Amino acid sequence: MAARPDRPAGRFSLAGKVAIVTGASRGIGAAIAAGLAEAGASVTGVARSDASEAAAAFAYRRCDVTDHDAFRRLCATVARERGRLDVLVNAAGVTLPATAGEQSVADFAATLAVDLTAAYACAMAAAAMMRATGGGSIINVTSIGSVLGFPSNPGYVAAKGGLRMLTKALAIDLGPDGIRVNNLAPGYVRTAMTEASHADPVRHGERLRHMILPRWGLPDDLVGAAIFLASDASAYVTGSDLVVDGGWTAKGLT
Ligand code: NAP
Repeated sequence: MAARPDRPAGRFSLAGKVAIVTGASRGIGAAIAAGLAEAGASVTGVARSDASEAAAAFAYRRCDVTDHDAFRRLCATVARERGRLDVLVNAAGVTLPATAGEQSVADFAATLAVDLTAAYACAMAAAAMMRATGGGSIINVTSIGSVLGFPSNPGYVAAKGGLRMLTKALAIDLGPDGIRVNNLAPGYVRTAMTEASHADPVRHGERLRHMILPRWGLPDDLVGAAIFLASDASAYVTGSDLVVDGGWTAKGLT
C-alpha cells in the first residue's frame, strides 16, 4: 500500500520540497543531496569545486560558503526559480589539524570561518527565504567533536561544539517563524576528510575500538537521518541532536 502524505508514515516524503545542501561536491554532503533528491526534493548542491559525478542526481552550483553575499544571492535565485526554499543542510566543512606542534591561529580561524561562521550566515540567508512560505528545516552537520574533545584540532572541536549550540540558539530564534533547526552529528565516516586515518592501520583501529557497531560509517549512513530531519516526519523536532556514530558516544570502555 502506498504511503499517504496525510498519514504519519507518508510524512517522510520530500515531494514538493526545495532544498539546498552545502558541501555537496563529495562525501557526506553529496550523499545527503542525492538522498534528499531520491526522497522527492528538488535539490541544489553547493560547493567550490566543479560538479562531481555525485552531482548528477541533483542541480549543482559553485559557491564558497565563506562568501556570505554570494550564498545569499544563491538562496534568492533558488527560491525564485523553484518557487520556495524549505530545507538547508549545512554540510560544508574543513578540518585543519596540526601536523606538528600547535594549531596555528590562522588555521583555527579558517576552520571557524567555514564550519561555524559560514553555517550561521547560510542559515540566516536560507531563513529569509523560508519565512516567505511559512517555515522550513535547517540541518547543521556537526560531529561527535561537538560533544567530545579530540587532540591537535582545537579549531574543529570549537567550531563543531559552537555549531551544536548555535543550532539550539537558532531553533529558539527561528521557531516562531516555523523554521526548525537541528544538529546531525556523524561519527567517523569514510570520506576524503578521513581517508588518511582510514588508510593508516593504527589510526583506523584506534577509531574502530570506539564504535559499538564494528565498522566505520559511510556517507549513505547519514541519509536516513537527514531525510527525517528535512521532512514533515520531524515536524515537532527542533533544537535536537541526532547522533549517527555507530554508538561511539554511547560507549564507555574502549
Ligand atoms: P569532505 O569529503 O572533505 O567534504 C567536505 C565538503 O565541504 C566538500 O564538498 C567541500 O567542497 C565542501 N567545502 C569545504 N569548504 C567549503 C567552502 N568554503 N565553501 C563551500 N563548500 C566547501 O568531508 P566530509 O567528511 O564529507 O564532511 C562533510 C561534513 O561532515 C563536514 O562538515 C564535516 O566536518 C562533517 N563530519 C565529517 C565526519 C567524517 O568522519 N567524515 C565526521 C563528523 C562530521 P569543495 O572543496 O568542492 O568546496
